[in-house]
Amino acid sequence: MAELPDDPYNDELYFEELEYEPPEPPAWRRPLLLGIALVTAVAMAGVPVYNLIAATRTPVAANGLAVCTHDYCIVHDAMRERDLDLSMSRYANQRLDDASAERLAQSLAEQFGTGPVSVVVLDQLQGGVEGSFNPATRTIFLRRPVSVWTVLHEVAHTEAPGHGEDFMETLAEMTRWLDSGLAEAAMAQAAI
Ligand SMILES: [Zn+2]
Repeated sequence: MAELPDDPYNDELYFEELEYEPPEPPAWRRPLLLGIALVTAVAMAGVPVYNLIAATRTPVAANGLAVCTHDYCIVHDAMRERDLDLSMSRYANQRLDDASAERLAQSLAEQFGTGPVSVVVLDQLQGGVEGSFNPATRTIFLRRPVSVWTVLHEVAHTEAPGHGEDFMETLAEMTRWLDSGLAEAAMAQAAI
């Protein structure tokens, strides 16, 4: 049986390792790395800044429409701060037929002082979004099946463009109004 060495860290081996010198890098490595760094720097200068801006503002299509991608995280956080996230979930899952969607939109528009709106319900909207609002013609476009939440979201845009604090506050007021049951009464009256 071989004798175990006193010291498991063999000094001789240790010094041998220190004497090891890596081979020279190939001549093409430095220019290649510089090239990659340059391309990365150019890409980073443009793309991420644009993404940051895009995430916090309503995208506007070439035709001037405010397009709603529904920014679920941003809106959801704002509703949670106001203890309205459960209402938001409920309304996001509640579907409406075309006539009810229009009635709800008109009731909300009237109640919150934004004036009448035109409502158009379609099977498909440009960009695959759930809704959009054209401020020039005060037209709300909704995609079937329409959820209550999409109606609230788009009517809130008649009061506040973009998804800033004004928009969130309007949306919260509309949600509370719907929660209070007063909206149903107003719609029933409008239907008579
Ligand atoms: Zn929106």
